[in-house]
Amino acid sequence: MADIQSRVNELHQLLNQYSYEYYVQDNPSVPDSEYDKLLHELIEIETNHPEYQTVDSPTVRVGGAAQSTFEKVNHDTPMLSLGNAFNEEDLRKFDQRVREQIGKVEYMCELKIDGLAVSLKYENGRFVQGLTRGDGITGEDITENLRTIHAIPLKINEPRTFEVRGEAYMPRKSFFDLNEAKAQNDEQPFANPRNAAAGSLRQLDSKLAAKRKLSVFLYSVNDFTQFNANTQSDALDELDELGFKTNQERERLQTIEEVLEYIEKWTEAREGLQYDIDGIVIKVNDLEQQDELGYTQKSPRWAIAYKFPAEEVITNLLDIELSIGRTGVVTPTAILEPVKVAGTTVSRASLHNEDLIHEKDIRIGDSVIIKKAGDIIPEVIKSVLDRRPQNAEVYHMPTHCPSCDHELVRIEGEVALRCINPKCQAQLVEGMIHFVSRQAMNIDGLGTKIIQQLYENHKIKDVADIFYLTKDDLLPLERMGEKKVDNLLNAIEKAKSNSLEHLLFGLGIRHLGVKASQVIAEKYGTMDTLFDVTEDSLIEIYDVGHKLAQSLVTYLENEDIRALINKLKEKNVNMTYKGIKISDLAGHPEFSNKTIVLTGKLYQMTRNEASKWLELHGAKVTNSVTKKTDLVIAGEDAGSKLMKAEQFGTEVWTEDDFVKKQNEIEG
Ligand SMILES: [Zn+2]
Repeated sequence: MADIQSRVNELHQLLNQYSYEYYVQDNPSVPDSEYDKLLHELIEIETNHPEYQTVDSPTVRVGGAAQSTFEKVNHDTPMLSLGNAFNEEDLRKFDQRVREQIGKVEYMCELKIDGLAVSLKYENGRFVQGLTRGDGITGEDITENLRTIHAIPLKINEPRTFEVRGEAYMPRKSFFDLNEAKAQNDEQPFANPRNAAAGSLRQLDSKLAAKRKLSVFLYSVNDFTQFNANTQSDALDELDELGFKTNQERERLQTIEEVLEYIEKWTEAREGLQYDIDGIVIKVNDLEQQDELGYTQKSPRWAIAYKFPAEEVITNLLDIELSIGRTGVVTPTAILEPVKVAGTTVSRASLHNEDLIHEKDIRIGDSVIIKKAGDIIPEVIKSVLDRRPQNAEVYHMPTHCPSCDHELVRIEGEVALRCINPKCQAQLVEGMIHFVSRQAMNIDGLGTKIIQQLYENHKIKDVADIFYLTKDDLLPLERMGEKKVDNLLNAIEKAKSNSLEHLLFGLGIRHLGVKASQVIAEKYGTMDTLFDVTEDSLIEIYDVGHKLAQSLVTYLENEDIRALINKLKEKNVNMTYKGIKISDLAGHPEFSNKTIVLTGKLYQMTRNEASKWLELHGAKVTNSVTKKTDLVIAGEDAGSKLMKAEQFGTEVWTEDDFVKKQNEIEG
């Protein structure tokens, strides 16, 4: 047992170190797969020996059981918000007030992260509770969700008891990935990273929260008596040393002029950050001076938050057009009089759905306020009612598809309207754009405009037609020279040899994303095998759910789809998986097609290594002993599985037997 404990300790230490390197220092020392491997080893140990499970085990990063509600908890000291400054004048006043009271001052300037304020409690160096700000007095206990954030240390280097506060946020990349996945499932995207972060942290199912890839920056300590710090900047340095993630763009500045320069610099540079900021926080650096300045009823006198000007402008809503996605979802889009917002010209903005348009009472002809939410997606906030012209028109969604005139339907439980005509032009064109996209068939030079022209000229009616294109089809198109045509034809030719997963993903089958395409292609190998696949067989694959299994089987049964695949085959488009496939590797007669269970502690290799080795030699490694199990390899402390094996009379090997066999085989 002592051995299990020491391995558990070792795994905790390694996993915490890797999380720290990756998520705090942004400097990983091992590939992700190594982290995953160790994490799975730890999960397996904890599954077999629940007594080794602890609340600060790195396995909590994947989330735990769903909760029914969040408990409300009072903050030890209120989480105050800062006073705001909106312009230079406000800042100069703040500076004047500070200097009048304490004389010479040094400021600490920090980026104001656009996320959700959280407080984290550590007891004897262990993370024990995390709260939202709530109303500042009472927050919600979101400990389970916060534990899934890798940048939050579960344990720190010293056994201190204190509370640290900061901002949880969603990095832009996580945000884009999340919205892409949502689009894949026809779900409403999040408007901006802050909403996405808030939504994720208020998930009752921490397993879902874990998938959202949030991060955190810590910026203050509740009780400085546990710290050696004399200044805010010392405190942040100390947080760094303890293993917390703090924002590194902070600067100590001596004058208000320097503060204004810092603000100007970040107003420009904020676009280039990996996360959203909505302002700059200015604090008096010296802690004694902070005490001297004290607090007002609502906020500290020693700090102020400068807010970037709201990126909102007024423009006219000229019209509402419908755009039709590849899955037939019809989205109303605002056509705007072009206007500059946050540095870019905006002429279209999504209105999401009809319900929302009516809720906000937005009418065609209105003056509307536009905002670039999270500085990314333009959004119509509201109409300016006192500017509403008499002839402003209430908008109604059409009952029929503007592209193909097929009747639109509202699928139960969804707000979106959908065109369900499989031959709908707009959907087909969107589908082709998806087919040639990078993660699908990756055909360079075949952009939206070209596809549209080809479709309108009747040169392509389905994705297979792309492979039938000739020079004569392409040359007459706008802005297509000889050279461009040659490059495009080469790219098309090259795409024919793509491995199967690219084709699968490219077909745009509902619920089938990049990762599942990969896994399914590897497992079944060829398109022909896939034609015979059953839902039951698909569901056995980890990560393939009912919806996807059903969608894929239905799709492949369709006669039109079979014809499409044949049309692709005629042009020699590859229909096989070309990546490495574990089951293809020769295997060994001793193990091939055998079902093997590993149990107990192994000393000469990890269980993961043993399992990989067995799979490479053709075995199927499973978790539980049944009548069908051919062999059990039992390490030390093998428990119930070994008993079961004896009960069924299954062959049992020790680790030594196994190693001997490995040596024999490998010579
Ligand atoms: Zn249609």
